[in-house]
Amino acid sequence: MTTTHFKDVDWIVAWDQDRQSHCYLKGGDLAFAGNEITFVGPDYDGQSDNVVDGAGICLIPGLVNIHSHPCTEVLYRGIREDHSVREHHMTGLYERSCSYAADNDDKKFGAEVSYADLMLSGVTTLVDVTFPYPGWVEVMEKSGLRMYAAPGFNSAQWQRHNHHELHFAEDLAKGRADFEASLEFIDALGAHPSDRLSGIVSPFQIENNTPELLTESYAAAQDRGIPWTTHAAQAVIEFNIMVQRHGITPIQFLAELGVLGPGTIIAHAIFIDESSWIQWHSKTDLKLLGDSHTAVAHCPTPFMRYGAIMEDFGRYKDAGVVLGIGTDTIPHNLIEDMRSAAVLARIASKDGQVATTSDVFHAATIGGASALMRDDIGRLAVGAKADMVALDLNNPIMMPVRDPIVSLIHHAAERAVKDVYIDGRQVIRDHQVLTLDRPGAAARLADAQARMEAGVPERDFLGRSSQEIAPLSLPMAFPSNE
Ligand SMILES: [Zn+2]
Repeated sequence: MTTTHFKDVDWIVAWDQDRQSHCYLKGGDLAFAGNEITFVGPDYDGQSDNVVDGAGICLIPGLVNIHSHPCTEVLYRGIREDHSVREHHMTGLYERSCSYAADNDDKKFGAEVSYADLMLSGVTTLVDVTFPYPGWVEVMEKSGLRMYAAPGFNSAQWQRHNHHELHFAEDLAKGRADFEASLEFIDALGAHPSDRLSGIVSPFQIENNTPELLTESYAAAQDRGIPWTTHAAQAVIEFNIMVQRHGITPIQFLAELGVLGPGTIIAHAIFIDESSWIQWHSKTDLKLLGDSHTAVAHCPTPFMRYGAIMEDFGRYKDAGVVLGIGTDTIPHNLIEDMRSAAVLARIASKDGQVATTSDVFHAATIGGASALMRDDIGRLAVGAKADMVALDLNNPIMMPVRDPIVSLIHHAAERAVKDVYIDGRQVIRDHQVLTLDRPGAAARLADAQARMEAGVPERDFLGRSSQEIAPLSLPMAFPSNE
């Protein structure tokens, strides 16, 4: 087993177990042997095979991203950023999902680009919520990421026949077959020789699954001791559908089913009863989430583009909700999402002391680890996995280095991420991805996107083209170019 010693590191963000807080250590050492951290503190004097000079770097724990769709979302670059449907209370999710579909064979290239982008922004643990596709396991394995694969299933699919309604095409047999296949996938992943790959049980959306599938899948996760995740309270339209079906909010419905609790991750729980977009008569959703220690995957970027925000991070935290952060869509940059989470919470609460830098950094590390029921990731401490990021303090955008985490989150973002280690293995060196072919995979995206857009008129209920649904941000200069 190889021991690596980071010597005289300018700054280390070390975990203080007693205070349950990250803290700064200046001029300290960190050592790891194999895939485990064996020393954090001043003056390591043990054996070492490699010594790394810690001058000019800050070591932070690898970031934990608890919600993302890496294989498909990158194909929407240039399509989704301005796309919003007013008849759907601004979300563009349903229109895109009904009118666009990525080719299965292209998804591994999307995943390769996204995994690379995530590691370049300091992510070392990733929850990947995806309908399984050929090559998924191979690209996860190749990446070097600590992966939580969440193979999705649904017993119904969204359909549109007009601008304002959402219909459901039910296929209970397919829902059950896909659920069972997802358990087989998860069990096979658990037996994989690399212990970096594991699974999460994932009914994709609350409104697209029968109550039986929700409870049975939750029981399957409990039996295996693994997390369970679903999308809920992610749109006003979904809130209204759940109320029409059951007379209660999506969160209340999940509570009644008995599926809230530690190990449950709700994406995104923004449209709760008290939200200003909802104004429902009850005020229990936050308490249900907090009292049960349910985790919420907070993914501010896609919602803020629609004009919607969580109201607010500080109140969720105070209620006891386990807050983690996810990128969900593009850009896959968890550091920018930490910044957005902090800024939007202050706007929502009109309080500049809500969602401090420390709060959002905690959410992206310890919060995510708790959501995944782990106490050995998201922290630099003896016994934790050697998942860590070296920030470049010599980058002028980090200077003056008075408070490196503030410089990282509010200023530099991924530009400061120099080296990344996962499970003791270096996956990023000097801003370069060692494990994946990022440029090669990115070069495939244009064709993949063109294939996806070519299929739009056939799928769209009005037969529109992708250009009609999501026009370019600027007109073409000469009509002949169109
Ligand atoms: Zn999602």
